[in-house]
Amino acid sequence: MDDLKTGLEGLFQTFIDLTSKLVLPDWNDVVTLLLPLALLLGLVAPVLTILVLYWAYQTAKRPRFRVRPVETAPVAVSRDEAGEAIVPANVPYCSRDGLLYPARTAKCSACGDELTVRCPVDGTLRTTRLETCGACGTRYVLGAADTALTVRRVGGPPEGGAAVA
Ligand SMILES: [Zn+2]
Ligand SMILES: [Zn+2]
Repeated sequence: MDDLKTGLEGLFQTFIDLTSKLVLPDWNDVVTLLLPLALLLGLVAPVLTILVLYWAYQTAKRPRFRVRPVETAPVAVSRDEAGEAIVPANVPYCSRDGLLYPARTAKCSACGDELTVRCPVDGTLRTTRLETCGACGTRYVLGAADTALTVRRVGGPPEGGAAVA
């Protein structure tokens, strides 16, 4: 009987020991684990906060994009084999920079020169301020219509014509 009692007590004691080990953590281990973590958080958190604040500050400080009409962006003029600029009629053009501007543009944004347009009738160049060609009197108000870009198809196949095979 005594043997059994001692055995039970021993078992119980072992159980208690195990439980206490499981429930009560070793505080030294916990501090060793948590201290670097706490230090890391204490260092990283302020740095992150500063970064976020700095980013917000930069975002707030950055000036809003000035609303510039898209159509003021010039495009480089195309050139033929001889290197001569192919200036379409009624398109504002800067000969100094070889830039074509959308309609209603009067000055070159690169050099500040007044832009010129070519008369669709006789090819005369004139400043964009003049709406009428000095040579032939053709009047064209820049940007008034997109007629300059309209290409009329000439010489299409006749309607109902037999296909040439
Ligand atoms: Zn220019
Ligand atoms: Zn003309």
